[in-house]
Amino acid sequence: MRVRHKPWAREMLESHPQYVVSSPEQYKGNWEAVFENDQPLHIEVGTGKGRFITEMAKANPHINYIGIELFESVIVTALDRLIEANLPNLRLLNVNGEKLTEYFAKGDVSRVYLNFSDPWPKTRHAKRRLTYKTFLKLYEEILIDKGEIHFKTDNQGLFEYSLMSFSEYGMLLKFVSLDLHNSDFEGNIMTEYEEKFSNKGFRIYRCEVQYQ
Ligand code: SAM
Repeated sequence: MRVRHKPWAREMLESHPQYVVSSPEQYKGNWEAVFENDQPLHIEVGTGKGRFITEMAKANPHINYIGIELFESVIVTALDRLIEANLPNLRLLNVNGEKLTEYFAKGDVSRVYLNFSDPWPKTRHAKRRLTYKTFLKLYEEILIDKGEIHFKTDNQGLFEYSLMSFSEYGMLLKFVSLDLHNSDFEGNIMTEYEEKFSNKGFRIYRCEVQYQ
């Protein structure tokens, strides 16, 4: 993804510590201290501009959410949304999803969302896909027992690869839709990429998988 550099982004993130957690490692095993309650925690890895996670947090005040995004120039838009919505159950982390186990202990997280993850279509880049087995191991290390991943994409190749990867990892495929927008699935919250690609006529794939 091409990212426009925003030199002011770092300062903006740092000036909103109530929304952007700057030293997440200090809350490993103790995210209740951040949210001041022990509600279940759902995270989105690769949250982008944050529409999905913000709308989810609005719709589900009984769940805590964390949006995780690598690029500060992208996550500042999520921060804008969060400032406007002022939600007590949502925080943002400007970190690399490869380091999840530095920030979360086993059982801290009840669900992982992956939405429109970068497809990395070349085989030699497969290890960078957020559904590659090393990432599935990371998620397993922070999720509750029988924790779930909910995954959406417009990319057929990535979806097929991911179903194989989940299956080879021994996960249970609980729900699979090959055309989400023409299915009876209710309550879908669109991401920025989802809107862009569905407007162009692309089909949206979605699955829910569970660790055993
Ligand atoms: N989920 C959003 C949506 O559906 O609109 C954004 C999709 S965008 C194609 C993928 C996002 O994942 C990018 O913003 C990218 O920076 C982020 N990303 C990719 N790898 C990541 C990683 N290892 N850790 C955190 N974010 C990552």
